[in-house]
Amino acid sequence: MIIRTRTVVTMDGAPIDNGAVAVSDDRIDDSPAGSLPSWAARPRRSAPAGSVVDVGKFDEITSRNAGEIVDLGEQALLPGLINAHCHLDYTCLRGKIPPQKSFADWIRAINTEKANLSPKDYLASINGGFAEAKRFGTTTIANLTAFPELIPKISAPIRTWWFAELIDVRAPDRAGEIVEFAIESLKSAHNWGLAPHALFTASKNLYRRCVEIARRNDILLTTHLAESQEEMEMFHDASGPLYEFLKGIGRPMNDCGSKTPLGLFLGAIGDRALPQCIVAHLNEVTQSDFNLLEKSGRQFHVVHSPRSHDYFKHSRFPFEKLRVLGFNICLGTDSLASNENLSLFAEMRAFQKEFPGVPPEEVLQMVTVNPARALRQENALGRIRRGCRADLISIPCSGTDDVFAEIIAFEEAVDWILLNGKEKRNNPHAAKLLK
Ligand SMILES: [Zn+2]
Repeated sequence: MIIRTRTVVTMDGAPIDNGAVAVSDDRIDDSPAGSLPSWAARPRRSAPAGSVVDVGKFDEITSRNAGEIVDLGEQALLPGLINAHCHLDYTCLRGKIPPQKSFADWIRAINTEKANLSPKDYLASINGGFAEAKRFGTTTIANLTAFPELIPKISAPIRTWWFAELIDVRAPDRAGEIVEFAIESLKSAHNWGLAPHALFTASKNLYRRCVEIARRNDILLTTHLAESQEEMEMFHDASGPLYEFLKGIGRPMNDCGSKTPLGLFLGAIGDRALPQCIVAHLNEVTQSDFNLLEKSGRQFHVVHSPRSHDYFKHSRFPFEKLRVLGFNICLGTDSLASNENLSLFAEMRAFQKEFPGVPPEEVLQMVTVNPARALRQENALGRIRRGCRADLISIPCSGTDDVFAEIIAFEEAVDWILLNGKEKRNNPHAAKLLK
């Protein structure tokens, strides 16, 4: 199949006007001749189904590839978006929890809501979340679930990295058991990882076990870190609402009163596992933390969730400083218990409001190439390049000077999605078949 649009935004060089992408499917069994002239025939070999086999100007693509042509017209074709941090478990909590006085109060409020939910509710919540994410053009999601036992019952409609969210704050002697139980269920997932929840809910022992397993099985880790001022206050000063709340439920507080969350985290997770770890938030970073990071040369993947960040009124996300240090910055929606929908377009707009000086192209990277790198899929996802998976979306494009700005401004549902080379059209009349 050859898909033609007004502009192809590859995220791999300048956008291509009157561009096209050739995608392998079961019927096409040839590899592109690339830039070679037609007489320089190459032995044919089959391209894996559902991958991009060629991308360029429409004329070039049709001259060297066969197949049905789908002309989507005045549209921009771009890689499907990647949500680097989400909890679909709580899709059903949209609008249920108003902003609270403290972060600790918010935890109490979500716990009250969760007490009313059954496994059936969570299944409906996760399935509803997948459908919504896909409607907004998300083709890959890093989803944390507190209920890994539900994974075998779910058929995810988009590419999913399942992370089991692990908490042992009420049972620190059962860390091993908790991890083992989660892994049993995770095995049914194609892509999985572990998510020790946060330093205040997961013990050092739990983190260490997760790191051990991640190293042994070469899987990803993700965790929440340095999200709120209360987390900083708890670890650094041994005081504040979060400190009091957790002390009240019996958490041993002997790690509080000296280090920053980042300082503790680096100790718990160790350097070797850092490339495998995707860190959510990182709003609270002291100057001494930055000095430490700069001196050590440590870098990791960070997910910022602009709208959830606004909801909680967290400290300003230190984007510029992290960028200077070479951190890989991605965007995520977090859960709908602190956000209104699962649109990454809206997340990009919220990011632009916070950081208006960042070029739109760089913002789009935060939901394409950057999260692909965090998931260690830089050669498969997040860009339109020969050999990458054909996960593509198409949105209207009027041909303004800045196609990236126009993409970010897009506020509708996405009509046309290609997932692993297969069309998932919401509106069957959106595309015109030429032959
Ligand atoms: Zn989260």
